[in-house]
Amino acid sequence: MAKPKPSFMDTIVSLCKRRGFVFPASEIYGGIGNTYDYGPLGVELLRRVKDAWWSRTVTARTDVVGLDSAIIQNPQTWITSGHVGGFSDPLIDNKTSKQRYRADHLIEGKIAKYEKKGRSEQAAALQEKLNAALGDNEAMGALIAEAGIKCPISGTDDWTEVRQFNLMFKTYIGALQSEDNIAYLRPETAQGIFLNFKNVLESSRQKPPFGIAQIGKSFRNEITPGNFVFRTREFEQAEMEFFVPPAEEQQWYDYWRKARFDWYTELGIREEKLRMREHEASELAHYSTATADIEYEYPFGWGELEGIACRTDFDLKRHSEASGTDLVFFDPQTKEHYTPYVIEPAGGINRMALTFLIDAYEEEELEKDTRVVLRFHPEIAPITCAVFPLVKKDGMPEKAREIEALLGKARMSTFYDEKAAIGRRYRRQDEIGTPFCVTVDGDTLSDDVVTVRHRDSMQQEKVKVSELLTYLIESMSGWSRQ
Ligand code: ATP
Repeated sequence: MAKPKPSFMDTIVSLCKRRGFVFPASEIYGGIGNTYDYGPLGVELLRRVKDAWWSRTVTARTDVVGLDSAIIQNPQTWITSGHVGGFSDPLIDNKTSKQRYRADHLIEGKIAKYEKKGRSEQAAALQEKLNAALGDNEAMGALIAEAGIKCPISGTDDWTEVRQFNLMFKTYIGALQSEDNIAYLRPETAQGIFLNFKNVLESSRQKPPFGIAQIGKSFRNEITPGNFVFRTREFEQAEMEFFVPPAEEQQWYDYWRKARFDWYTELGIREEKLRMREHEASELAHYSTATADIEYEYPFGWGELEGIACRTDFDLKRHSEASGTDLVFFDPQTKEHYTPYVIEPAGGINRMALTFLIDAYEEEELEKDTRVVLRFHPEIAPITCAVFPLVKKDGMPEKAREIEALLGKARMSTFYDEKAAIGRRYRRQDEIGTPFCVTVDGDTLSDDVVTVRHRDSMQQEKVKVSELLTYLIESMSGWSRQ
């Protein structure tokens, strides 16, 4: 019997393990469900994604500054922000299988099934009911029954009631494990930004409209993590709070939605795989006047990649009231005191990295065979340039090493390989998305000319070593997805 073809996600997971992007965490102890470690290529990929975000959001702008706040803050932070009371998901248990699910995810799964079968009217009707049931456990439970949703493991509809489950990880500060010493691992980086609003305002000479950006780890005790690194309990976020005069809220909301969407397409994500989904009024958090998700069409369906939210003056006002520190802005020109409104683009670095990987993956049919190629934007590719001696003799390895050092000095990430036939070496680089391979041959030693092979077109060009760096930089900046 023929082996079943692995699913696309299985292919991605196995490529990640084999080539050193992502490993299951604690693997030698049998793993720890849905937790992952990033290997040599994975860590480079994450760095590229973070750099691409930081360089455009902070470095290239004069109106955004950075911050790196602590993961464990004064626990009052999370009481004030509403996370202690309200950062919870509706969960439901199946009594037969003892499996626990997010109630809203079960309903979303049913909607996706309807969509897949082309039953768009039923999908829309159920979506509407889900929106109306959000935040109401009884209504959510009733909807699960009404939609006839069964447990994917046991196949029964033997459900418990829907209950709220707080997603924050708790810990204790110091030696005593008492209620007085409880602290929380941050579930988002945003609150650290609000706590530092005054510090940044006073030290950075910024004034609204301006932003404070942060990249860092967040922790959520997700009930149903899954889909590889799409949803994990520990992940990195890239968030920016952009503080604006209240009257400019709409203008900046429009601006950041477009800027964030364009960031993905400029870095090579196919536009037809992305969509902007505006939240319905019933889906909005109570303090939000508008929210949109940038969604990507994953192999498991459309999913949120990033959210852009209008958070009004909610957070600053709440922290002002609870702390007694006035978090307002005084405009010396108009002599006006006001609490700025906030536009927040919030994305997950790991989810972005997964999206770049999935979107880049192609199995290209060639004349004689198929090649696996990751068509990463050169800025996102973990290795920018591989360097090969054509053969392992006659001074070629030494020359190749010299070229590798030259590129490394210019902070280009390189990989040296002298094993196997040149064609195989190209393919190994295609599979990890390296946009350029440079080969040193016998003539290079006398004419100082190397061959540059391009990943996407597989075309080869002769380039002088003295012009190589400029050539690669120009090729990178002129890149577009084929
Ligand atoms: P969801 O509805 O999927 O749980 P969310 O709306 O709660 O997500 P936000 O709080 O808006 O997510 O977080 C901003 C971004 O952080 C998300 O768009 C996503 O990219 C990322 N993110 C959130 N939760 C996780 C997670 N558990 N694992 C990986 N990334 C996450």
